Amino acid sequence: MKNRIKELEKISKLLDPGVKKRNEWNVEVLDYSNTFINKLDTSKAFFSSEENGKNIYNFDIEEQATALTSLLDSTKTNIDEVGINAASGGHMGYIPGGGLYPSALGDYIAAVHNRYAGVFFAAPGAVRLENMLIRWMCRLMGYPNNAAGNLTSGGSIANLVALVTAREAHNLKARNFDKSVIYLSEQAHHSILKAIRISGLSEAPVRFIPLDKKLRLSANELEKAIIKDKEDGLTPFFISASFGTTNTGAIDPIESIAKIAKKHKLWFHIDAAYGGFFKLVHKLNSKFKGLQKADSITLDPHKTLFLPFGTGTILVKNKGELLKAYQYLADYMQDTIDADEEISPADISPEQTKHFRGMRMWLPLKLFGLKPFRAALEEKLYLTQYFYDEIKKIKGFEVGPEPELSIAIFRYIPTDKNADSFNKKLIQAIQNDGRIFLSSTTINGTFWIRIAVVSFRTHLVQIELLLDIIKAHVREISIDLN
Ligand SMILES: *Cc1c(COP(=O)(O)O)cnc(C)c1O
Repeated sequence: MKNRIKELEKISKLLDPGVKKRNEWNVEVLDYSNTFINKLDTSKAFFSSEENGKNIYNFDIEEQATALTSLLDSTKTNIDEVGINAASGGHMGYIPGGGLYPSALGDYIAAVHNRYAGVFFAAPGAVRLENMLIRWMCRLMGYPNNAAGNLTSGGSIANLVALVTAREAHNLKARNFDKSVIYLSEQAHHSILKAIRISGLSEAPVRFIPLDKKLRLSANELEKAIIKDKEDGLTPFFISASFGTTNTGAIDPIESIAKIAKKHKLWFHIDAAYGGFFKLVHKLNSKFKGLQKADSITLDPHKTLFLPFGTGTILVKNKGELLKAYQYLADYMQDTIDADEEISPADISPEQTKHFRGMRMWLPLKLFGLKPFRAALEEKLYLTQYFYDEIKKIKGFEVGPEPELSIAIFRYIPTDKNADSFNKKLIQAIQNDGRIFLSSTTINGTFWIRIAVVSFRTHLVQIELLLDIIKAHVREISIDLN
């Protein structure tokens, strides 16, 4: 047997390469990423191709090892040069991501050192670091010391965690579900609807509250709906408001909603996945009035804190509610119970073993300090306002509501043609061009083109380029149609 063990050991040690090999790989990957970053100014924000990454299938898993060079070549052609280039400052569609460089270094350390950040006993320092980040976000949102939270994989999971916490806090049982009413704006993010289904609450009646002119949830309509439901013998349970809707960046009237939620004893959730970190911009402080009255808040550091994809946050005002929903002690985890100086992520989330996400967030925040984050977010506000003012000046363009944050909608109204079909052609042309990526949306049945300025790499030059591209394509489409 020992011979066999030795034999196996020799092969299995291939999994633990020595310093020479590691350095070789590091250099290759760093070269690859540096070239990628250095070329971002001139590379496209959107690639449309016939192949569309299909050749990645030639790299299926097999017995033989493959050289890194060939894997990086394949990554370049099949992954990095296909679809949306989310690292590009030209990405202004959907909600652009970020990808701060120090986050990659944080992920590197987290992966190599592999600290077990799920429980305090196993990685007290890692858990302290993540809880310190949570406490910083709580302070930023005006939450009390008794608040707690968790770094999730994104905003969708954060919304799910909030809904389940609310369900448990209200002691809902299956037999109550069809009487427990959920209130959303017509512009609520669809991840909340997913969360309703995943959390078993599909039978709960969902009321879509109408919007006011600025596409915000109407607090009056909300209260009317609640009163009507109570009269009908139902129990209002959960209201989710948006601090920055994904479609237009609208901010629901949170102070008024907070009052209504308190009066009628609803769980008040705020989905601030897109808008929350704008709190870092001092001049926006007044917009955040009342935020701390929410029972739970979703944030998304991989949006407006410019982190790479895979980091969301849920904050819950009353720590006890989170524990009630998620804490569970498995027999084989008994060693971990006494070390409760800090709450463990595993006790307040669906996850047990988890990625040490804190590292990718802490490193950039510390290396840069907050100042450039505040400046970048304020810059995005002004860039959006600038775009909005400029596009409005171009003959034929109509715009949506004044941007509250960094999202705006607009469309071209041709004199004698169908506006929707013209704007569909326009967005198609912008996407085919690829230097800037925009997406579209439909609001109350009308087709709009949408701009979301969120990437830390988007600056004035990309906005000017976008304006030029739009003008050129409008001319082209008009000529084609005539
Ligand atoms: C992006 C977004 C979500 C979903 O977050 P993910 O990180 O994509 O899972 C939820 N709500 C709002 C308002 C968003 O903008």
